[in-house]
Amino acid sequence: MYRSHNCGELRAAHINTEVILSGWVQKSRDKGFIVWVDLRDRYGITQLVFDEERSSKELIERAQNLGREFVIQVTGQVIERASKNPNLPTGEIEILVSKLTVLNEAKLPPFTIEDKTDGGEDIRMKYRYLDIRRNPVKNSLIFRHKVTQEVRNYLSNEGFIEVETPYLIKSTPEGARDFVVPSRMNEGQFYALPQSPQTFKQLLMVGGMDKYFQIVKCFRDEDLRADRQPEFTQIDCEMAFIEQEDILNAFEGLTRHLLKEINGVDVDKFPRIQYDDAMRLYGNDKPDIRFGMTFGELNAVTQHKDFGVFNSSELVVGIAVPGGNSYSRKEIDQLISWVKRPQIGALGMVYCRCNEDGTFKSSVDKFYTQEDLAQWAEVTGAKAGDLICVLSGDTNKVRAQLSALRMELAERLGLRNPNEFAPLWVMDFPLLEWDEDTERYHAMHHPFTSPKPEQIELLKTDPGSVKANAYDLVLNGNEIGGGSIRIHDKETQSLMFDYLGFTPEEARAQFGFLMDAFQYGAPPHGGLAFGLDRLVAILGGQETIRDFIAFPKNNSGRDVMIDAPAPIDDEQLEELSLKLNLKS
Ligand code: ASP
Repeated sequence: MYRSHNCGELRAAHINTEVILSGWVQKSRDKGFIVWVDLRDRYGITQLVFDEERSSKELIERAQNLGREFVIQVTGQVIERASKNPNLPTGEIEILVSKLTVLNEAKLPPFTIEDKTDGGEDIRMKYRYLDIRRNPVKNSLIFRHKVTQEVRNYLSNEGFIEVETPYLIKSTPEGARDFVVPSRMNEGQFYALPQSPQTFKQLLMVGGMDKYFQIVKCFRDEDLRADRQPEFTQIDCEMAFIEQEDILNAFEGLTRHLLKEINGVDVDKFPRIQYDDAMRLYGNDKPDIRFGMTFGELNAVTQHKDFGVFNSSELVVGIAVPGGNSYSRKEIDQLISWVKRPQIGALGMVYCRCNEDGTFKSSVDKFYTQEDLAQWAEVTGAKAGDLICVLSGDTNKVRAQLSALRMELAERLGLRNPNEFAPLWVMDFPLLEWDEDTERYHAMHHPFTSPKPEQIELLKTDPGSVKANAYDLVLNGNEIGGGSIRIHDKETQSLMFDYLGFTPEEARAQFGFLMDAFQYGAPPHGGLAFGLDRLVAILGGQETIRDFIAFPKNNSGRDVMIDAPAPIDDEQLEELSLKLNLKS
C-alpha cells in the first residue's frame, strides 16, 4: 500500500492515527535538530516532522538529504502541531515520521513548483508535466473536468446521446485549411482531420439519432492568432425535428446550468440581438454587453459642415467614455496614438469633451458649433463629464477600430468584471460573406447552413443581403458557440454549392455522400457547437485558454515538450510514396 490517506485530508480528528502518505517534496526546513518537510500531492500539502527527541539520527540524516521534488513514502503518526497554520487545510497537524522510503529521486526542477513560479511560459511548456504539479494549472484541469462532467450530465439528462465520429475523414469546410494525413494503403491519397464533425452529425440525424452531442477534438490549420490552438475541443450538438427556437432553448438551458453549477450564478433569459444591430451598436458580432458605450452613428449630424475628413467618410461613429472628460490632454493624445497603432489602423481620432457646465470642447471646434456638439452628445448618449471619441472611414474598418477602442477603454475603466456573466444570442447572420482576395462569396458559417426560406429568391439578385438561420452564443465579448438550421434537401444544398462556386462535379466529389443521404429521408435538423476551451476559461474567470489545456501548443503551433511537428524518416516517406519539395 502506497498510501492510507492523501496529503490534503488529515485534520485534528486524525491525531494519534498511524498513516502512510506518498507524494513529492515541496520544500524542507532544516534546523539541525529538527527537520520539517512539506509533502505534496494532487490533494494538498501535509507537513512531516523529524526531530532529535523522537526520531533516530539516521532518519533525520536521510530527511536532511531529501531534495525538492523527490518522490517519497512515509509512515508516521498524526500529531498536533505546535504552531498551527490556519492557511493550510491540514495546518492543525503534522506527521511524526517513523519510516521514510525514497521512491524516486528528482533532478532539481528548472523552475519553482509554486503558485507564483519563476519559470517563464516557454520553460513551463517544455516541462509541462512539472507545470501541472503547480496549483494554477492543476486546478484549471480539475475545473475543466467539472465543466465537462456537468455538460455530459445535463445533455444526457435531456436525452442527448454522445456519439463518436471519425478523425480520419475528408475535408469539412469550416473556413480554415485542413490538416491532412497521408494514407499508406491508398497511395497518393490523404485523409483530412475534421475541422468539425459537421457532416457526420448531420448524417447521424439522417440516421435517426435525433439528439446528438460529442465532446470532440477539431483541427484547423489557420495562421495562429493569439490564444488559438490548432487542435481544440468542441461540445458539438445536433438535433432533428426542431426549429431554431428549440435549439436556442436547449443550449441556453445548458449554459444556464453551467453558470449555476460551476459559478453559482443565476442568469435571466438571455437577451437576443440581430447581427446587423450588433454590428451597428458594438461594431462587432460578439459584443461584450457587461457595459454600455454603444456606438452612435454621427453621419447625419457631422457631414455637410466643412470638415472634409468626415464628409468623405462612409461612416462617422462615436462612443461616450464615462468620466472621460477628466482625461488630460496627454492621456487623450495617448488614446489617439493607441488607435493609430498598425494593429488598430485608424488614421486619427476626433474627440469632444463634455464639460460639467454643459458646454463642449472638441478637437474640431473650427467646424462645429456648440449646438452641433450637443447633437453628438445626444446621439452617443454622452453626459456631462464624459468624453466622446469619434472615428471615421470605411464602415467595416471603422467599426472594427472603434470596437477595439471600446474594449480597451472598458478594460482601463475596470468595466470587464470576470465575475459578471453577460450571455447573449446574436441572431440572423448573413448567409454569405464577400471575400476580397478571391473576389467571391463564401459561406459565413458553413455551406450547410440554411438561408431564411423566404429569402432564397434573393440569392439570385442580392446574395450579400440574404440572412441565414444562424446564431452565435456570446459570453462577455467572446463567441462561445455558434450554429444554424441546416439545409436538409438535395435541391437547396446543390443550389447552395452552386452559389459558392462549386461545379456540380466538385460538389459531387466532395459532398456526394451528404447529397445522397438527403435523398433517403433527411429530417429537418440543426445544431450548434460550443468552443469548450474558451468556455471553460471564461467560466474560470481567465482570459487565456492555455492553462485549461493539459498539453497546449505554442503560438507557432509547436508542442515544445515533445518537439512536434518534426521531420519523418526517409523510410516512412518511402512507405507513404511521398517526396519532399521543401521551399526553405
Ligand atoms: N460545425 C460548426 C462549427 O464548428 C457548428 C455548427 O454549425 O454546429 O462552427
